[in-house]
Amino acid sequence: MLNADLHCHSTASDGLLPAAEVARRAAQNGVELLALTDHDDLGGLAEARSVADELGMRFVNGVEISIEWGGLQVHILGFAFAADDQVLNTGLTSIRTGRVDRARRMAAELDRIGIHGCYEGAMRHAENSNLISRSHFARYLVEAGVCKDVRSVFESYIVPGRPGYVDHRWATLADSVGWILGAGGVAAVAHPGRYKLSRLEMRLLLDEFKSLGGQAIEVVSGSHSAENVTSFARLAREYGFMASCGSDFHGPGESYVDLGRLAPLPQGLTPVWEAF
Ligand code: AMP
Ligand code: MN
Ligand code: MN
Ligand code: MN
Repeated sequence: MLNADLHCHSTASDGLLPAAEVARRAAQNGVELLALTDHDDLGGLAEARSVADELGMRFVNGVEISIEWGGLQVHILGFAFAADDQVLNTGLTSIRTGRVDRARRMAAELDRIGIHGCYEGAMRHAENSNLISRSHFARYLVEAGVCKDVRSVFESYIVPGRPGYVDHRWATLADSVGWILGAGGVAAVAHPGRYKLSRLEMRLLLDEFKSLGGQAIEVVSGSHSAENVTSFARLAREYGFMASCGSDFHGPGESYVDLGRLAPLPQGLTPVWEAF
């Protein structure tokens, strides 16, 4: 089976390594097909592709689009699209603009409970200031001594029901799938095991995704348990979705799984790269 890693982040969003280093590390780890999938931003693609070309590693364009579905924050991956597509780029720009406003509201909430300077602090951790993310807040809260590591931040702060979390209107499922397909790409539901959805709600999400033209789901993911892999492999077969796999690598020390170090896809699935 091909060593494919179709989900990872660079400093163009909330990763810790520049896109060129992500590609270099992937090649070193034996990745044969890489997609860089920064959140809502295509800024790292050219650099990653050029390193991949240099090192003889296959590369496809990727993105991880932030949407709201059923009141939850859900992520939709796009692969192998034209990165210069106008509608896709305009859509991603609108999501990034919303992020800056959300970051100000998050900082105001944290300020209210006595944690000051979070907007500026998080911005200092954001290489791409247009792509301010909860990860940057988490890194600042660790730096400020509020929590011992990023993981603990996401247990006590900036998640629903905890201080620093604010509601936000992201794009819709229809927007994200439409932009990806319109740019000639393939859409996949990212790490479906991570959403707090009942079985029925998961089916509603997958039904709607499929009816919009979505063709794949992430089955093997750095944030999936072995149980998740089995159950989403079953759903992929049932829905006729292609299967994707990706580490969701954000950087050394901050990710469970390194680039290219994933379990293979279970038997009987069509890998999403057959569509590339
Ligand atoms: P945002 O897109 O700004 O809402 O930030 C979401 C990002 O926060 C995700 O892409 C992850 O990188 C990170 N994140 C979310 N939940 C966790 C968690 N439990 N542990 C570590 N990182 C997390
Ligand atoms: Mn992230
Ligand atoms: Mn995600
Ligand atoms: Mn991700």
